Amino acid sequence: MPPRRCQGQPWKDIRLPAPGANRARDERGTPAPAPPPGRLSSEAMASLEEPLRAVVGGKAAARAEKAFGLRTTGDLLRHYPRRYVRRGELTDLASLRDGEDVTVFAQVAKVTSRRMRARRGRLLEVTVTDGSARLALTFFNKVEYWERQLSPGRHGMFAGRVSTFAGKRQLAHPEFKLLGADDAGKAAEYAAELIPVYPATRDLSSWDIEKCVRVVLDTLGEVDDPLPEAVRERHQLDGLRAALLGIHRPADLAEADRARTRLKWDEALVLQAVLAQRRRAAAALPATARPARAGGLLDAFDARLPFSLTGGQRDAGGTIAADLARAHPMHRLLQGEVGSGKTVIAVRAMLQVIDAGGQAALLAPTEVLAQQHYRSITDLLGPFGQAGRLDGADQATRVALLTGSQGAAARREALLDATSGAAGIVIGTHALLTEHVQFADLGMVVIDEQHRFGVEQRDALREKARGTRPHVLVMTATPIPRTVAMTVYGDLDTSTLTELPAGRSPIATHVVPAAEKPHYLARAWERIREEVAAGRQAYVVCPRIGGEDAGGPGSATDGPATVDTDGPESFLGEDEEDASPRRPPLAVLDLAPALAEGPLAGLRLRVLHGRLPAEEKDAAMRAFAGGQADVLVATTVVEVGVDVPNATAMVVMDADRFGVSQLHQLRGRVGRGSEPGLCLLVSETAGGTRARDRLDAVAATLDGFRLARLDLEQRREGDVLGAAQAGRKRSLKLLTLLSDEALIGQAREEATALVEADPELASQPALAAAIGSLLDEEQAEFLEKA
Ligand code: ADP
Ligand code: MG
Repeated sequence: MPPRRCQGQPWKDIRLPAPGANRARDERGTPAPAPPPGRLSSEAMASLEEPLRAVVGGKAAARAEKAFGLRTTGDLLRHYPRRYVRRGELTDLASLRDGEDVTVFAQVAKVTSRRMRARRGRLLEVTVTDGSARLALTFFNKVEYWERQLSPGRHGMFAGRVSTFAGKRQLAHPEFKLLGADDAGKAAEYAAELIPVYPATRDLSSWDIEKCVRVVLDTLGEVDDPLPEAVRERHQLDGLRAALLGIHRPADLAEADRARTRLKWDEALVLQAVLAQRRRAAAALPATARPARAGGLLDAFDARLPFSLTGGQRDAGGTIAADLARAHPMHRLLQGEVGSGKTVIAVRAMLQVIDAGGQAALLAPTEVLAQQHYRSITDLLGPFGQAGRLDGADQATRVALLTGSQGAAARREALLDATSGAAGIVIGTHALLTEHVQFADLGMVVIDEQHRFGVEQRDALREKARGTRPHVLVMTATPIPRTVAMTVYGDLDTSTLTELPAGRSPIATHVVPAAEKPHYLARAWERIREEVAAGRQAYVVCPRIGGEDAGGPGSATDGPATVDTDGPESFLGEDEEDASPRRPPLAVLDLAPALAEGPLAGLRLRVLHGRLPAEEKDAAMRAFAGGQADVLVATTVVEVGVDVPNATAMVVMDADRFGVSQLHQLRGRVGRGSEPGLCLLVSETAGGTRARDRLDAVAATLDGFRLARLDLEQRREGDVLGAAQAGRKRSLKLLTLLSDEALIGQAREEATALVEADPELASQPALAAAIGSLLDEEQAEFLEKA
C-alpha cells in the first residue's frame, strides 16, 4: 500500500480487497467469466446492488451519499469520469476562475514556510506551476508534514476552491495527491497512463472517488447485464463489466470511448424500453372505435373544402383516420411548421369522430388561441357547424367555446351543449380538463401546441376519461428534433407535415442592430408605414407587458409553463456572456404610446397582451383580423396559431430576449397570405456575441428543424428534458440528445422489438430491473416536485 498522502484521511475505513482480487482488469470479455477456482468466490464479490458502505466503509459511503446521492456500488460505478488526464499533462492554471471548485494537475515549483504573526504556528506556501502560470497553495497546520511531501519537482493533483489573496491566485488548504514515483523511488498507485477526473466536491475529491471506485472494481464479481446478448452482438458492444472497467480505468482513450458508447446504450435502451412498454400498455387500453362513415359530415365537409389537401396532409390524415377506427386509443403527435395546415387535419379527424357518434374537445394553450380556433373552425365548417340554426346543413353539428372568462349565459349554453352532446366540438383552454365539464360521449381530444402542455396536463387528461379512453391528437408547430421526439415524447406516435400548402409566400428576415445603426430602426418603422400604406398590416412584438409591473426583466410576464403565457421563454439571461445588468426588456404598454406619438403616428394601433380581460383580447384580435387596426403591438400571445393573412410585417423588439424556436414561431405569423412576409429582429446586442449569432441564424434559415436543433444546442439539455418530463435528467448521464441520434434510434428499434416479443421482459431480468429503478427514480422526482 502506498503511503497515505491525503489530509483528513477519509479512506481510513476503506475495506481493502482480499489479495488476488486485484485482477478484475484482466477479466474483460463478454460476458464476464465466472471467477476461476482459486480466486475469490463470487459471494465474496460485490454486486452492483451492494450498499456502498459494505464495500468502502461507512465514512466514505456517507460522503459519497452526501455529495452525489450514491448509495450502492452500482451508483458509484455509474458516477463516470468527466475527463481523463494523461500522466504528466498539466492543467492550464491561467484559465482558473475565482470561486471555482477545481482539480488541477501541476508541478511543485517552490516551497516556503514562515512563522505567522497573527496566530500561533507556521504557514506553508507552496507554489505549483503548469510551466508558465503559477498557483499558490497555502497550509496552516501540520506544516512540517506537508513540507516533507511537497518537494519541488513533484507532480500532483490539487483540489480546492480558487480564490485570490493579495493579488495571487491560490487554493487555501487544498486536498492533494502526489503522482509518479515517490521519494523512495517506488511507483505510486497511478501506474495507468490516463488518470480519471471525476465530478468532485470539497468533501469528496476526484481521487477519493477514484480510490473508492478502485476498491469496488477490484471486488466486483459478475454483474447482470441489462443489455441482452443479442443486442450487444449486433452492435458490437462490450459486456457491462468490461465497460465499467473501461470507463473508470481505460488503458487508452479509445477504450474509454468504447466503454462510453456501451454505457450510453444502457441509458438509451432502458429509456426506450420504458417508452415501448408505455406505448404498448396505452395501445392495449380499450377505446371506442370511431371508423369513418361514408356520406357523413366529413364527406360533406371535404366536398366543400376550398383547396385540395397537400400530400402530407393526406398521409397524416389517413394515418389518423386508421388510428381512430381502432378500438384502442390513439396517442399521436402531429408536427408541422407553422402554416402547414394542421388545423384542417384536426377538424377532419373530429368530424370522423362526430360521424361515429362521438364528441371532440380541442384544447388550446391560451384563451386568445381558443377564441381564434373557435372562429376559424366555425368559418371552416360553415353550415356544417350550425346545427339548429336556420342556415345549418342537414347533418350539421355545433361548435361550443368554453373559456374561463366568458359571460354566465354563454357559458351555461356551452356547458349544456357539451353535456347533451349537441356540440360535436368543444373548444377551450386546458381548464376544460380541470373543470367540471361533462361530455355526452367524449371520443377524441385534440391538444394544440403541445410545448405548452406539461406532464401534469397529460395526467389530468388521463384522469378525465374514466372507463374507455378518448383518442388523443397532439399538435405542435415547434419542430421537435427527432431525438427529443424519441425521448421526451417517446410514448407518442408521430406524424410530420414537411411541406407547406402551395402559394405560401416566403418570409424575409433581417436583424436590425439598433445600437450600432439607429437609422436602421428608423427605416424599420418606415417599412411598417409602407406596408400599411399598401393596405396591409403589421405586428410589433415586445418581450414584456409593462404597466404597473415596471420592475425587472420578466416581472410582468408569466412563466412559460402557465396557461396564458405572455413572456419570452425564460432561458436567456443567466448564461449570456454579458454579465452587466441589462435594462428591462421593452414593454408593450410603454412602446405602444411612444409609437403612436412618434414613428407610427396616424396609424391605427391596438394593444394585445395576456393581462387584458378576455373580452378585450378578443376585441383586439377581432379588430386586427377584421382590418380595423393597422398595427398590433403585442406580447408573445401572438406567438402560436394566430392567423391574419393580411398581416405581412413583424417587428420583434429586443429580439435577443427570445429563444430561437420562439422567434421562428413568431415570424410564422406573417407571410400567411399571398404577399411576401417581412420580419425585422431588432436588437441592441453587439455583432459577434452569442445572442447576435442566434439572431443571425434565425435570419439565415426558414428551416424550423435546423433552428430547433440550434435551440437544443444552446439550452442546457437538462432543461429541455427536465421541463418536459420528470426523471429523465438523472438517468441520462452520458447520452446527449444532440449527438447520439443514431444510437437512440437503434436503441428504440431494439427496445420496441424486445417489448413486442416479451412485453414484461421476463426473459431479460436485468433489463427489467433497470427499468424498475428508472421508474422508481421518476416516481421519486415526481413526488419531490409535487
Ligand atoms: P397550422 O395550424 O399548421 O399552423 P393552419 O391549419 O392554421 O396551419 O393552416 C394555415 C392556413 O392554411 C389556414 O388558413 C388554412 O385554411 C390554410 N390551408 C390549410 N391547408 C391548406 C391546403 N392544403 N391548401 C391551401 N391552404 C391550406
Ligand atoms: Mg395552428
